Amino acid sequence: MYDLASRDIKYVTGVGPQRAAMLNKELGISTVHDLLYYFPYKYVDRSRFYTINEIDASMPYIQLKGEILGFEAVGEGRGRRLIAHFSDGTGVIDLVWFQGIKYLLNRYKVHQEYMVFGKPTVFNGRVNIAHPDIDAITEEVPSGLGLQPFYNTTEKMKRSMLNSHALEKVMASALKLLQEPLPETLSPQILQEHHLMPLTEAIGNIHFPQNVELLKRAHYRLKFEELFYVQLNILRYASDRMHKYRGFVFGKVGDTFNTFYASYLPFELTEAQKRVIREIRKDLGSGHQMNRLLQGDVGSGKTLVALMCMLIAIDNGYQSCMMAPTEILANQHYETLKSFLRDMDVRVELLTGSIKGKRRERILQGLQNGEIHILVGTHAVIEDTVEFHKLGLAIIDEQHRFGVAQRARLWQKNVSPPHVLVMTATPIPRTLAMTLYGDLDVSVIDELPPGRKPVATIHQYENRRAPLYDFIRKQVDSGRQAYIVFPLIQESEKIDLQNLEDGFERIKTAFPDYAICKVHGKMKAAEKDEQMQLFVTGKAQILVATTVIEVGVNVPNASVMIIENAERFGLSQLHQLRGRVGRGADQSYCVLVTGFKLSEDTRKRIEIMVRTNDGFEIAEADLKLRGPGDLEGTQQSGIAFDLKIADLAHDGQLLQYVREVAQEVIKKDPQGALPENSVLWKQLKTLRKSNVNWSAIS
Ligand code: ADP
Ligand code: MG
Repeated sequence: MYDLASRDIKYVTGVGPQRAAMLNKELGISTVHDLLYYFPYKYVDRSRFYTINEIDASMPYIQLKGEILGFEAVGEGRGRRLIAHFSDGTGVIDLVWFQGIKYLLNRYKVHQEYMVFGKPTVFNGRVNIAHPDIDAITEEVPSGLGLQPFYNTTEKMKRSMLNSHALEKVMASALKLLQEPLPETLSPQILQEHHLMPLTEAIGNIHFPQNVELLKRAHYRLKFEELFYVQLNILRYASDRMHKYRGFVFGKVGDTFNTFYASYLPFELTEAQKRVIREIRKDLGSGHQMNRLLQGDVGSGKTLVALMCMLIAIDNGYQSCMMAPTEILANQHYETLKSFLRDMDVRVELLTGSIKGKRRERILQGLQNGEIHILVGTHAVIEDTVEFHKLGLAIIDEQHRFGVAQRARLWQKNVSPPHVLVMTATPIPRTLAMTLYGDLDVSVIDELPPGRKPVATIHQYENRRAPLYDFIRKQVDSGRQAYIVFPLIQESEKIDLQNLEDGFERIKTAFPDYAICKVHGKMKAAEKDEQMQLFVTGKAQILVATTVIEVGVNVPNASVMIIENAERFGLSQLHQLRGRVGRGADQSYCVLVTGFKLSEDTRKRIEIMVRTNDGFEIAEADLKLRGPGDLEGTQQSGIAFDLKIADLAHDGQLLQYVREVAQEVIKKDPQGALPENSVLWKQLKTLRKSNVNWSAIS
């Protein structure tokens, strides 16, 4: 059979070599298949003109016909907008623009007939249309067109007349080429059981739906398929791994663990820590290689859990390594572990890029002959020159900055892959965890060590400094310490540093009788250390800093965190910063200081911070506000397959559902041998082949 789907697009009517080159360069489309999978981002109901008196906010994109009665510019600054009062004789509706006011006023005239396309929404309690498209009525528009698709195009494409409308025509001729149905990519069983539209029909309807109902069904089918293969991929991978690799068996808990637990553990473990250690112990003894994700909010005590697991490794004659994404963090872990283990006969070493020469050689030797029990470090730990005597357990802290490929490299470090424990303080929303780490088992520390009180969080406008300073004074006078944090980003580094210096002077003036220290990333390491030390030892009461304190600092006596220009921080960053306080027994406070004009998103971020201390809730909200592509590190760590239509922020339920469908398939057919599933395995193979992220691990 001649495979239409892989045919070059230049043969599609209306394309030709030039447009083909442009589509390829601008959108990465080179085959008919690519083209058909380039989905519209919205639809306009062209089946008829709606009248203003029947509009409500639940409608999709619609078209209206009428005239502009008059313009009105209202609001100030970011809230400034242009309103056009638009009427068709049945009523009046507001068209609203937040940008391009001057241009619009020049372009459109009152009392002239226009067609308006847009999505009705509710704004300030009234139905209106924001940023509509407006066209002059040049010809009579044919009705009965169904829903008209709109495609994203680039500036370059528009300049060569390859706009959404042109693409629409190309799409129509591509669909006409499909005399035979596309090869189905889901099994008949799954299609039937879940009432899914066949592929060819879904592709046809996603581009040119006759009505909203068909569009919904097409949408559902394509989303289902996309998420299903993401899950099938991960689960099949996990199941293969289980059959292929035998894990080292850590059969016993011995003297090292027991001595530490009985004699040197400085505090009682929380119930959550105990539970998680039990879960891990079970994995380690099971004969299967462990791949576990340990989630726990900032300050929940993950390091100690990691340490106790490494002690189990020692008891069974294995070495461990612990990797952190930065030297600062690696250093800190090293210091922490050493101090926990100071009275025990366990050798811990640190290996980072800056450890060179004789010292490095000594460490490499100690690893090879097995004298070193625990190696802490950065990426340096997985370099080829680092050879272990018997590596049995690898712990990765802050996984989201560690690529999948690096995880795979770890596996080469012994005859079998070591057990892997991935720890993350940035709580990953469930849906993301399922797609990114769906092959990992998950343990959660959902409890903070005792005595920690939730941090009270307050929003304060920047012109209300006097009461803010009074508040700081009260806290400091009762013996507490305070952080004051300023944003610093590279693009505006100079201004930001100035801002920090100004703030520092202002604070010095406001608190003449306190010692105030200052830390920022541009300082020399020695100076930074010295300033930091002042705060840690309690010699300084106030620390003025940039986000360098985001990770690592632990000063239980600090009870106040002031975040200046809080509107410039992301949610997870705000949460991490807040995690610096609330570590002692006293009630702690976090004050988010902002200007008056706040965007809708910023307002939401602040609201969430004020409402909750729960890192998971915050991460979910972050995902909804920003979308998954934007979450730190997720692009690199790689969802195995591109998502063209599903949206992790909103399709969590469907994801859970298809995960169960995929689990069922794997359970019945772990080797991929059943004929009724042959479609599925073939499609999975195709997807894996065309995917870059995947090749890193297989
Ligand atoms: P994170 O999960 O953010 O890595 P850490 O492991 O750094 O948290 O622990 C935060 C602080 O809590 C550390 O000072 C640690 O020693 C302390 N800690 C850990 N477990 C307990 C516990 N069970 N009881 C009291 N303090 C604990
Ligand atoms: Mg930590």
